[in-house]
Amino acid sequence: MKKNIQVFDNVLQLIGNTPLIKLNRMTADYDGEFYAKVEAFNPGHSSKDRIALHIIEEAERQGILTPGDTVIETTSGNTGFSIAMVSIIKGYKCILAVSSKSSADKIDMLKSMGAQVYVCPAHVSADDPRSYYEVAKRLHEETKGSVYINQYFNQLNIDAHYNSTGPEIWKQTEGHITHLIACSGTGGTISGTAKYLKEQNPKIKIIGVDAYGSVLKKYHETREFDHDEIYPYRIEGLGKNLIPTATDFDIIDEFVKVTDEESAHTARQISRTEGLFVGYTSGAVMQAVKQLNEAGEFKTGDNVVVIFPDHGSRYMSKIYSDKWMEEQGFFDSKTVSTLETIQY
Ligand code: PMP
Repeated sequence: MKKNIQVFDNVLQLIGNTPLIKLNRMTADYDGEFYAKVEAFNPGHSSKDRIALHIIEEAERQGILTPGDTVIETTSGNTGFSIAMVSIIKGYKCILAVSSKSSADKIDMLKSMGAQVYVCPAHVSADDPRSYYEVAKRLHEETKGSVYINQYFNQLNIDAHYNSTGPEIWKQTEGHITHLIACSGTGGTISGTAKYLKEQNPKIKIIGVDAYGSVLKKYHETREFDHDEIYPYRIEGLGKNLIPTATDFDIIDEFVKVTDEESAHTARQISRTEGLFVGYTSGAVMQAVKQLNEAGEFKTGDNVVVIFPDHGSRYMSKIYSDKWMEEQGFFDSKTVSTLETIQY
């Protein structure tokens, strides 16, 4: 093919360099400007492409992974999809232990990308032998020539965002960023991005978003693990029932907690007002922005960057289904469902 036509060697070359998109409607009445780093523009439709590529390539560099070997991970879906995608291109087998909280769409998608999927109960403690952590560990021990990505306890998760997401945001804002607001699951996104940004300007405020039912916010404030904070919740990928070492708690200035219901409605609002079809945790991060705005966090001249981690298509049977929303009790007289279909 002629050299003057821009062609990519494979899909992995499209990872990263996602756009920063100004929010024009949702934050119109707020002081400051708001921009979303829209990670759905990655080829695997989430921020997790960055860590899958970085961790697998680092294992290759260290000679740990050779073609035909197996990559194993625990995942709420997005990391699994990204690992499966990278494994296909690079010739590895992919085994994924996922939480039963993951949507059916996500599990089918992982299978479509050639992954062997183990579905593990969501509401058991992390050290229960049935938990997806324990299942993945066991599979790793039993499978010769395997690598366990272990994203919650892998420093390379932080490094992936330190090397890519952080520098991209710094460049895209020309250094004028005042706040970074991001969901915390493994904590890799917020910790790596914040590390790079704070090295450029230590005054940038870093705000993590946590879920009710997760221990992260309380741990950040007290450095103590409080079992009473833990109870089931719906948002996938946000918050945790353990303390991940991939979270640098010292670099995060504060945490904000959000509810399942408000985050679901806010995600729908992003789609309807900004034309950005994004996932549940994008709703969570914008719900945090709403709460912070009410608390007087922002002022004129601020440039606030939020991270939208993934695409709305992964939640068709959840937050974008009126039936699911009704089943959760998320509709009341104040909230609206999507427009009714007209039978013609
Ligand atoms: N949103 C979604 C949809 C996710 O899957 C994850 C990852 N668990 C996050 C947010 C949080 O990102 P991180 O793990 O880097 O903290």
